[in-house]
Amino acid sequence: MLKPREPIAGLGPYHSPITSRAGLSLDLNESMAGCSPRVLARLRSLSAADVSLYPQREAGERVVANFLGVAPEQVLLTNGMDEALSLLFTSYLGAGHELLFADPTFVMYAMLGKALGAQLVRLQPEEDLALPVADLLAHISPRTRVIAIANPNNPTGLAAARVDLLKIVEAVPHAAVLIDEAYFEFCGETLIPDLTRYPNLFVARTFSKAYGLAGLRVGVLVGAAEQIGYLRRFSLPFNVNSVALACLEEALADQAFVSEHVAQVKQGREQLARLFDELGLRIWPSQTNFVLVRVGGKVKSFVESMQRRGILVRDSSASPGCDGCVRITVGTPSQMDGVLQAIRDAIAEIRG
Ligand code: PMP
Repeated sequence: MLKPREPIAGLGPYHSPITSRAGLSLDLNESMAGCSPRVLARLRSLSAADVSLYPQREAGERVVANFLGVAPEQVLLTNGMDEALSLLFTSYLGAGHELLFADPTFVMYAMLGKALGAQLVRLQPEEDLALPVADLLAHISPRTRVIAIANPNNPTGLAAARVDLLKIVEAVPHAAVLIDEAYFEFCGETLIPDLTRYPNLFVARTFSKAYGLAGLRVGVLVGAAEQIGYLRRFSLPFNVNSVALACLEEALADQAFVSEHVAQVKQGREQLARLFDELGLRIWPSQTNFVLVRVGGKVKSFVESMQRRGILVRDSSASPGCDGCVRITVGTPSQMDGVLQAIRDAIAEIRG
């Protein structure tokens, strides 16, 4: 009987991250503000040639390189950041190699590492859920091939200090260090300027969050030109479609939209932080567009209660160190009053 390679056959069954779209989706860290009106205008102006001809990724890479202040040879555009992760891991990681990361973090790292037959070296969190820098340095071995760090992290929202990240990059010249900056815009710290000094450093970005283009699927991988050159050989030439490429340019040009959205998210996460403080619930200081909060043993009832109120939130209690925790995406200013009231009511309900 036909069987896939052992690591693929051994993966758990696939479950879509989208459980429902009935109500306000505060469970996937998408942009609740939608996208720039300029993107929608560009979409409406697309011609037949825009869809009948193969896409030209290189043009988009020049625009993004210019925006990031790096050379086009250092940039690879991908079908969402997920594809960037897949390309990066596949290029450096295989059987007999170690993938090193600290829990809790983005679930795709473990999934890809397993699929490639690599050994997962996962570090257990401390109570503060912060990146355990010393522990991570202590677990580097000659077999370490990829270290993956989301900064700021998902699901905690926490950001690590740049100096600590650089210590890690310096300690493993034989391994690829991925700094996943999916939530960069909500935090402001980046390692892109450090790429010139470290040929083993990669920074990934996405247009799914602050730019509100999750449905178009555009991610960016930036690294040393030589390393990105290897990944480019292996990437599918038409991985990013023409519609996404056309919109990307407009999205980047409308920085006013992004700044306004980021300012509103920062206000919204402050409102959530104040409410949870008042309710006596533990939160972690977020640098992203979501907040992780510990509601306790009745987490499932809380999630259900929110759903009855028309709001989807993510039960994160299965993530290591996140017992009883829920992750909530920040809504728009006009949604926030309703969100805050729903949280108050749902907490009152589970406290009975
Ligand atoms: N990295 C992190 C930390 C994320 O949270 C996400 C999306 N939830 C991604 C990468 C993937 O983003 P994309 O939509 O670009 O595939």
